[in-house]
Amino acid sequence: MLFSSIPGQADLKAHLIGAAREGRIAHAQLFLGPRGSGNLALALAYARYLVCKEPGQADACGVCASCSMMDKLAHPDVHYSFPIFTNEKEKIRTSDDLVGEWRTAVLKEPLIDETAWYGVIEKDNAKGIIRVSETHNSLRKLSFKSSQGGLRVLLIWYAERMNIEAANALLKGLEEPEPGTVYLLVSEHQDLMLPTILSRTQLVKVPGFSPADVATELMLRAGLPQNEAQSIAARCEGDLLEAKAMVERTEDELFIFFRDWLRACYGRKVVETVQFSDHFASLGREQQKALMRYALYIIRQCVYHWQQAPDLIRAMGQELEFVGKFGTLLNDRNASGIRQELETAHAHLDRNANPKVLFMDLSYKLFGLLKAA
Ligand SMILES: [Zn+2]
Repeated sequence: MLFSSIPGQADLKAHLIGAAREGRIAHAQLFLGPRGSGNLALALAYARYLVCKEPGQADACGVCASCSMMDKLAHPDVHYSFPIFTNEKEKIRTSDDLVGEWRTAVLKEPLIDETAWYGVIEKDNAKGIIRVSETHNSLRKLSFKSSQGGLRVLLIWYAERMNIEAANALLKGLEEPEPGTVYLLVSEHQDLMLPTILSRTQLVKVPGFSPADVATELMLRAGLPQNEAQSIAARCEGDLLEAKAMVERTEDELFIFFRDWLRACYGRKVVETVQFSDHFASLGREQQKALMRYALYIIRQCVYHWQQAPDLIRAMGQELEFVGKFGTLLNDRNASGIRQELETAHAHLDRNANPKVLFMDLSYKLFGLLKAA
């Protein structure tokens, strides 16, 4: 992972490289950014820059011995720690036991999120943990002499998955760092991190990608026509991973499901709603969440339509037609209620709620909210 292979984020890259060139390398840094922002990719590019033998003005050299080891995420002085499910029977005790799988997954998609990672290790619908044994193992590795004579780096991916014991063990390392070590914590959820960890790390805030960067990326890498790329870029809220998923999903499917479901809710059709809930439950967790995000997008579009803010309308074709019609069913009261319900459902999906129960419940709430129109 080189800085140049990550789209956009120019200011942040310049800041990271500039500070490193001036020798200002904080020993503990927190790359905090939302899903699909490239926080891991940036931390990896930065780690490579730190261990590169001949770093340039704008990037690592890409060809030295360190860089070629980083090409495979296999530099002996760069260690990785990430959430796993320990399993004595399968001898899975620390990240080291799954690092091969992790490297392959990250090299394939550097924007990978934790849900996709749990899919790779066949633990769908669960959340991994970084345990204290993991942290002790990481600190032990950092205590070894540098193999290549440079800095030693520990990258902790989804640092918010450290449990209290692990976080406290890490604090010791952060407070009394071995000379020449750099801790790079990568996280999505600041609110799940211990305040003591936050106060001991320098914050590297990674913003979501700009719509222009997403659109350019989709045109260059996915070969999308400009109007489609811009349409997705406008909807993905800076989440490039989501944007890529949107390219793959047939947009029509999402739209048709959502449209027909809302019609069923508006018509208070219980039997149909149960069928929609079954369908919803049969989708993967990410797809379920994507559907909630899509629903939120449509509701927002309806509100813009009804507030007569044409410059904010991104919907096109059949979507736009639907937005025009459905928008008439919304008002101040129910629009914010529906948005709230969708946001809550999205958050609950993240916490492994039963999808069928959740979707039925959501549908019934919409029965009421749409009637209140
Ligand atoms: Zn290099």
